[in-house]
Amino acid sequence: MSNATDRLRVAVQKSGRLAEPSLALLRRAGLVFRSSRDHLFLYGENLPIDVLLVRDDDIPGLLVEGSCELGIVGRNVLTEQRYGNGAAPSPAELIALGFGACRLAIAVPQTSAIATLRDLDGLRIATSYPALLAGWLDAEDLRAEIVVLNGSVEIAPRLGKADAICDLVSSGATLAANQLREFATVFESEAVLAASPRKAPAAKALLIERLCARIGGAQSGDGVRLLMLQAPRTALADITRVLPARDPPSVMSLDGRPDDIAVQALCSVALDWQHLEELKRLGAHGLMVLNVERMLA
Ligand code: ATP
Ligand code: MG
Repeated sequence: MSNATDRLRVAVQKSGRLAEPSLALLRRAGLVFRSSRDHLFLYGENLPIDVLLVRDDDIPGLLVEGSCELGIVGRNVLTEQRYGNGAAPSPAELIALGFGACRLAIAVPQTSAIATLRDLDGLRIATSYPALLAGWLDAEDLRAEIVVLNGSVEIAPRLGKADAICDLVSSGATLAANQLREFATVFESEAVLAASPRKAPAAKALLIERLCARIGGAQSGDGVRLLMLQAPRTALADITRVLPARDPPSVMSLDGRPDDIAVQALCSVALDWQHLEELKRLGAHGLMVLNVERMLA
């Protein structure tokens, strides 16, 4: 039996936008968990990897102090912590995970006359991301006043607390509902796998590497389809031209049918009915499209 210090800890958001996709990703990487009674801890049953369920704001701190070796968190939260922390060691981003996509954007009241970045000079901008906003204002050589709010940023202009806001946006529906218009992008974000700046002992470092390879494998299966078909050998060049595939297909001979081949190709999700119909016109038959669950190069 391994003791607790041999086990890897991954911090994941307990509830919120990243909670469900983060656990789904770890499960697709093959991890099986048993939940603790208080639902704050998931015990890894098939690998020595446990999950700590926390508020997303706490994840960078847990990584810095070394309570967790890994965490899944928005790049916005990670970078805000890094900018706000000066020269202190910060968690590193290991893998961009492709979910939780959003941007930190400046928005102004729909009726506002603000038209250029320069117009922000001297205004008050409300945000929960003061360090990211300060970095952007500096880079743009703008002098605005930052009003730090920890929630309900979008109502600050209506309350007269600010002239503009700097908040996370994905669809833009919240901005529209608050009569705000998006004006400039400060920072692009998505969920990332982040690692503690503390050096992990060799056994844990190996486990981290293994988990990263599995996550990479689970991700590379996303958006990929395996196409299988049979066709006359003479049709191969035309078939290859039609396939929405990056790499050339695998071509196999068929026993007792020297003029025919079996073809397997990894295609992008762009592979649709039209492709299949075109392939059929070129002489292909027995076409089959399968989802790819995981890949390991
Ligand atoms: P917690 O209780 O864990 O502190 P929270 O309210 O801070 O939760 P959520 O609203 O669940 O956090 O957002 C978590 C992350 O989801 C954000 O930090 C961001 O990276 C990402 N995200 C994606 N789209 C949006 C969006 N439209 N608004 C806010 N966050 C978004
Ligand atoms: Mg939070």
